[in-house]
Amino acid sequence: MTGWPQQSLARIEPSQAKHARMSAMSTLSVQHVSKSFGTTESPLQVLTDVTLELSGGDSLAIVGPSGSGKSTLLQILGTLDQPTSGTVLIDGTDPFSYSAAQLAAFRNHKIGFIFQDHHLLPQLSVIENVLVPTLAGGRPGSEHIDRAGELIEAVGLGHRRGHLPSQLSGGERERVAIARALLMKPTLILADEPTGNLDRKSAEAVTELLLRLQSDNGAILISVTHSDALAAAMKDRKELLDGKLV
Ligand code: ADP
Ligand code: MG
Repeated sequence: MTGWPQQSLARIEPSQAKHARMSAMSTLSVQHVSKSFGTTESPLQVLTDVTLELSGGDSLAIVGPSGSGKSTLLQILGTLDQPTSGTVLIDGTDPFSYSAAQLAAFRNHKIGFIFQDHHLLPQLSVIENVLVPTLAGGRPGSEHIDRAGELIEAVGLGHRRGHLPSQLSGGERERVAIARALLMKPTLILADEPTGNLDRKSAEAVTELLLRLQSDNGAILISVTHSDALAAAMKDRKELLDGKLV
């Protein structure tokens, strides 16, 4: 792989960057992660001692009632929020040891996000939306444009690449979001209810695509879901109950 992400990784810290490049297999290690909000006098304990080990090709569904901490856990795994205690290692690297700018580069390179409401930019075409993760590094290179085209073909939208999100169905938009999440060949794909807004047929198509592309790319997939069909399609399933992963 070429382009800015490796350069910026090399700038981050030589030993960690070297480690990240040497470990060919994607890994996620979550050790004793707890998270509380609020003050020390009256803390709200949201996650308690969450431990998780996953590697490339693994897929995990996280289920649990509303308010059980699912989104909080995804935010921490996505390096968007820090745990109160415990450690997260992505490809052997502790992302929270980085400065804000280094962390942004790391996140962009290592993590693909898929949201329930797709978060596509309405004024951009399908191909431009898929290329959004490259914008932090300046203009997308030809290798990014080629990969974006391949991913758009892979999600069955090759004939729609110039269309705007408003011209697509909900399932098609979610497929664009999957292509965008995979563009940078992330270690970790995090999805929050990716089929939540879809009819059954579209949900099945999105589930099949997501798992196939994740597996083809050797990525780790973690998805929060209320869908039994999606949870059943994933290799493993865990439940968050009162902040504990069981
Ligand atoms: P879920 O996604 O499982 O519905 P969340 O992770 O969104 O649950 O929330 C878990 C609990 O943490 C809820 O009680 C919520 O109100 C609380 N919470 C989430 N984020 C914050 C925050 N930034 N400050 C205070 N409380 C929060
Ligand atoms: Mg939530």
